[in-house]
Amino acid sequence: MIALNLQTVHARIAAACAQAGRAPAQITLLAVAKTQPASAVRAAYDAGQRAFGENYVQEGVDKITALADLPGLQWHCIGPLQSNKTRPVAEHFDWVHSVDRLKVAQRLSAQRPADKPPLNICIQVNIDGGSSKAGIAPAGALALAQAVSKLPGLRLRGIMTIPDPAPPAQMRACHARARQLLDALRQAGLPLDTLSMGMSVDLEAAIAEGATLVRVGAAIFGARAPRPAF
Ligand SMILES: *Cc1c(COP(=O)(O)O)cnc(C)c1O
Repeated sequence: MIALNLQTVHARIAAACAQAGRAPAQITLLAVAKTQPASAVRAAYDAGQRAFGENYVQEGVDKITALADLPGLQWHCIGPLQSNKTRPVAEHFDWVHSVDRLKVAQRLSAQRPADKPPLNICIQVNIDGGSSKAGIAPAGALALAQAVSKLPGLRLRGIMTIPDPAPPAQMRACHARARQLLDALRQAGLPLDTLSMGMSVDLEAAIAEGATLVRVGAAIFGARAPRPAF
């Protein structure tokens, strides 16, 4: 099932790229494995998937440890990150998409082990001003990006955004604003290559507006059970 779902998602990405005049090789598919067992990640790996996203630090570290035998895996932390939880992220993950405060970035940089390459970072931006989620306001993004780009343990790659569910045209307008913000940061001299946006429902609109990485969970692994409140 997972292999078939991955094929379907790759076909959606290819169709969206054809529509947008882009090459599918410009898009990284991140398989979001939150709440899924390590066996599901292994099945996706066997089907060729290499980049995986996790929202919860301990769950992610447990899976990274359980799957340490698989070469070439890439792990992305995409969930909200408290500053007292940065150490295991700095030690185990390859990317963090959810940096929205300098303090978190400073801790990740200081805690990144010296024998690992710099941790890849996206700044999470709350493009549509949704009150329910993390992310820095667009007006603060440039100052934060400039500060993050100077931290030695990190490599700033771009921005990440999660538009609130909305009618398609409205979501696409959010994606376009994220793209404009990325362009503005580049014009300010930051060498950014990553626009992390688009999920199971909106990956086509995100690709149309310039996403370079789409984060897809349900369309690969099936619907998630609600997260238990503990
Ligand atoms: C869960 C999640 C996704 C994937 O969402 P789906 O709707 O399952 O594709 C992407 N990004 C973030 C930040 C998430 O928390």
